[in-house]
Amino acid sequence: MKRRDFIQAGLAAGASVALSPAIGAPMINPLEQVLVGKGAKQRVVILGGGWGGLATARHLQIHAPQLEVLLLERNPVFWSGPMSNKWLVDLIDGEQLIHSYTAAAKKFGYTYIQTEVTQIDRDKRRVHTARGFVEFDWLVVSAGIRVSYEPWLGDDKRAIQHTVDNYASAYIPSTELIALKQKIKQFKGGNFVMTLPPPPHRCPPSPYERACLIASYFQKNRIPGKIIILDPKPRIAPITIGYRTAFEELYKDTIVHVPNAGVTSLDPYKKEIKTKAGDFSFDDAILMGHHQAADLTWKLDAIGKTPEGKPNNWASVHPEFYNLKDDPRIYIIGDSVGAVSPQFGHYPKSGHVAQRMGRSVAQYISEQAKNRTPSPILIDNLCYMLVNTVPKESISVQFDYKMGAEGHLLQTQIDDNERRAELWEEDKRWYNLMMTDFTATT
Ligand SMILES: Cc1cc2nc3c(=O)[nH]c(=O)nc-3n(C[C@H](O)[C@H](O)[C@H](O)COP(=O)(O)OP(=O)(O)OC[C@H]3O[C@@H](n4cnc5c(N)ncnc54)[C@H](O)[C@@H]3O)c2cc1C
Repeated sequence: MKRRDFIQAGLAAGASVALSPAIGAPMINPLEQVLVGKGAKQRVVILGGGWGGLATARHLQIHAPQLEVLLLERNPVFWSGPMSNKWLVDLIDGEQLIHSYTAAAKKFGYTYIQTEVTQIDRDKRRVHTARGFVEFDWLVVSAGIRVSYEPWLGDDKRAIQHTVDNYASAYIPSTELIALKQKIKQFKGGNFVMTLPPPPHRCPPSPYERACLIASYFQKNRIPGKIIILDPKPRIAPITIGYRTAFEELYKDTIVHVPNAGVTSLDPYKKEIKTKAGDFSFDDAILMGHHQAADLTWKLDAIGKTPEGKPNNWASVHPEFYNLKDDPRIYIIGDSVGAVSPQFGHYPKSGHVAQRMGRSVAQYISEQAKNRTPSPILIDNLCYMLVNTVPKESISVQFDYKMGAEGHLLQTQIDDNERRAELWEEDKRWYNLMMTDFTATT
């Protein structure tokens, strides 16, 4: 759109115009200008171009090609969480991890707009962004997680910023991954502490995988480092035996796993951390704060409540359709989703689950667009974790779901604890299938 057309589109929609005191030229409030005008087609707006958002956009092209689809994402490129641990220690290259939004949008016939989403107006069916607003008929929010250090540091914003700047976990797709990779390469030795968030959190088996791969890197490069995993859980989980065996057989002198080590306080300047299992000092660290549903789900007022009436930090949605309970056309999917079953609580917060939810929601929207009532689609989960690098060997965990006689979802978990090369080969195949599903990878 040329700049003049862009401004006129804003004016046509009743944008407010003020005079800039500095230069006297008209200034338009981005909250009040249309970013992309709505035509005759019904429109789906997707917030967040991660695993869930990209899968939704791709599967809408298959199931509802008559709808207009807009994907709003703050990042210029897609960063994958899955495989990122391998990239950190040079086991895969960047081309496998980072993908083009523009190419995916072109291939699957939707519009990608790089912008920060700022507000959602449910009544007016509008999403506000840093560049203007868009209107929607359906909204799919797959905005991932946010990391909270407040339980350790209160509202000391300086200490929180210092922690993010120096010890960020790179669990959100961003350039934090680059900083972490540099940090691992520059580490000279000493205590390398990794705190794990209390459950539920993003991809529960992946911090242990990261510990194995960094340990393997230290061993290979003769870096005299010790990785101290401070785990709030009483034991490693999931894939308990597979990980415990790998720690004992492969990383006996490099990894120390400390159970019941929930963090009680942190001094990020003195590099000291207090936990329920004792106090630790560190030379460097990956500090994973508490995980919560992404900011956008809070802005949607979609956060569930504890029995005491406080926010439970995760989005409250229908367990199989993922729509807001009072709005069948607003969906929240992926890691933001809160407890869905009294038997198991949350679905695993994985890319696999987010992709499955996105694929299902595309079908639900397609049915709704035809004025039909969708039937629920059951999902599954599958995660492979690389624990050895010479030779490359993985372990895995699989989850299946069914509806129980009492009307709530039931989960079956199968841990594959025997590390072997065959599972690493399966992991690569799984990842390629996923990338072919929703990125421009062929
Ligand atoms: C180290 C690591 C290893 C992992 N390994 C595996 C694995 O092996 N297998 C597996 O299945 N899963 C794995 N995962 C988990 C997986 O990455 C997540 O579960 C998955 O990404 C969740 O998808 P999502 O769509 O909910 O969120 P995300 O993929 O995080 O996407 C959210 C998107 O929303 C965007 N966004 C958020 N807010 C805004 C805003 N206000 N404006 C604009 N854009 C916004 C973000 O930039 C982001 O791109 C791993 C994760 C990590 C960190």
